[in-house]
Amino acid sequence: MNSGPNTTNPSPATSIGTQSDPDSSNEASAGTDFIRAKAAQDTESGKFGGRVQTRFPPEPNGYLHIGHAKAIALDFGLAEELGGKCNLRFDDTNPETEEQHFIDGIQADLEWLGFKPAGEPKYASDYFDQLYTWAEQLIEAGKAYVDDQDAETISEQRGGFGKPGIESPFRNRESEENLRLFRAMKSGEFEDGSRVLRAKIDMQNDNMQLRDPVMYRIKRAKHYRTEDSWVIYPTYDWAHGQSDAIEGVTHSLCSLEFSDHRALYDWFLEQLDLPFEKPEQTEFARLSLTHTVLSKRKLAELVELGHVDGWDDPRMPTLRGLRRRGYPASSIRAFVDKIGVARTNSLHDIELLESFVRTELNQQALRRMAVLRPIKVTITNWPDDKVVEVEAKNNPEDEAAGMRRVPFSGELWIEQDDFKMEPPPKYYRLSPGREVRLRAGYYITATDVATDASGNVTEIFCTYDPESEGGSTPDGRKVKATIHWVSASHAITRSVNLYERLFVPGAPGEGGVDPLTNLNPNSRETLVGCKLEPALADVAPGQVVQFERLGYFAADLDDPEVFHRTVGLRDEWANIQKRRQK
Ligand code: ATP
Ligand code: MG
Repeated sequence: MNSGPNTTNPSPATSIGTQSDPDSSNEASAGTDFIRAKAAQDTESGKFGGRVQTRFPPEPNGYLHIGHAKAIALDFGLAEELGGKCNLRFDDTNPETEEQHFIDGIQADLEWLGFKPAGEPKYASDYFDQLYTWAEQLIEAGKAYVDDQDAETISEQRGGFGKPGIESPFRNRESEENLRLFRAMKSGEFEDGSRVLRAKIDMQNDNMQLRDPVMYRIKRAKHYRTEDSWVIYPTYDWAHGQSDAIEGVTHSLCSLEFSDHRALYDWFLEQLDLPFEKPEQTEFARLSLTHTVLSKRKLAELVELGHVDGWDDPRMPTLRGLRRRGYPASSIRAFVDKIGVARTNSLHDIELLESFVRTELNQQALRRMAVLRPIKVTITNWPDDKVVEVEAKNNPEDEAAGMRRVPFSGELWIEQDDFKMEPPPKYYRLSPGREVRLRAGYYITATDVATDASGNVTEIFCTYDPESEGGSTPDGRKVKATIHWVSASHAITRSVNLYERLFVPGAPGEGGVDPLTNLNPNSRETLVGCKLEPALADVAPGQVVQFERLGYFAADLDDPEVFHRTVGLRDEWANIQKRRQK
């Protein structure tokens, strides 16, 4: 359904800067960006009575993503730093796509990220009556008119850059007729899309936003809050600045695609003759990440078309996806803090975000052993049925985390690729005749294998050195590799999801293609029958642990049988920087 021109938020700016070194895209170091500097100046000069109030205004047509985290950190951070407040406002003026579960989810995600809005959440829909009254005032003042043309015609007549606008034949209607028609629009006398209310500004203005923008359109759609009370809905532009004013917002911060709308934001506020200082809009760069799509429309499509399991799929850049994936909220805050706030859009490497996640988890996460693709090792000189408990560190980065006991027996699982019949050069792990160390356990030497009918190794036979408990021998013998293991009879069995990038290219959709054509068909690999050390039976939902040598893994929030790989161990961000320096 075509709901008329200019009825939804503008689409995100498409221009994207060069691949970023985060520091170079930063106009000032975090904490002193141009927006914070200006707001600090405003408080000093006593503007807005020295008050600072911001708002975070999501539209409840999707869940929050990491781009929103940047806006949130700025809106809430700035208010807090200057002793002001930040409220949450649902910008709910498009009834077709807005739903209550998004409202609830956005609040939960905001809380998870660590921010608390001032007071109860606010809703643009709470102001529908006030906005309507103000619209009638504009009509009476000759500053708004009802246009009987359809959306397509209006859009055509707006012209373009260097292309003059054409005035609507209904532009010079008398106020009384406009008022009568507008009231009739409100009371449902006209078809959807048959008329709109437009501001009467300037059809020749260089700024297209000022060419008589639409303020109301007719739409018979059930609104999740106001239900069927309204058949006309205000546009973003008509609702936003006025909502800011009603709430007492001083600094209205939004992303760059709204730059052109600022003149309109100001124009509406000027017409209304408010009894206090008007809020001011300032724009900042949107966050973009490589291999990632942050348009809610596209994210919704991924969900609807079944490319992912839902908004909280661990491959999604949504806060709930990242949470399920195991990203600590603090690492997301640290990342957006690091990239800072600038005036030009730039594309940030997803590896930088991952490096914040890894740094955080390295400090916090318990170490455990897990074998994802198991092959059996039988220790032939191990006494039958003997079980010992070896001691292993819970977290070498945190002495306070202490030690744990891990059962060791004569039948173990190790990773298939930690054994090779014919080891290539520089392969130091297990192979026939080769001795390796088992992490926190003993030295073992491979002596023989069992194979299936096609010659694949199905089991490895080893001997162990009884004097090597804890990882060293009295003769100080060196081995070149240490591998992880799990005792076969003590292991618990779980599924593990491994993830690759959701989109193959760095900039999905580049060259004007649908980003969904850039999806990586191998973005998830599910391994079943993984063997985990028994202590992993006790992880809490959502807890992240390091599987030694493999990476960080999060226990699923709902399914205790499933783990998700949060991030690998290797610092790919460091590698990227090294490559760029060359
Ligand atoms: P989309 O275009 O994907 O629908 P949006 O901007 O319309 O996103 P809103 O829910 O309206 O989504 O956004 C709420 C706030 O978050 C706005 O102030 C918007 O500027 C900001 N925001 C949204 N995406 C980003 C981003 N990628 N980087 C920074 N801020 C963002
Ligand atoms: Mg928006």
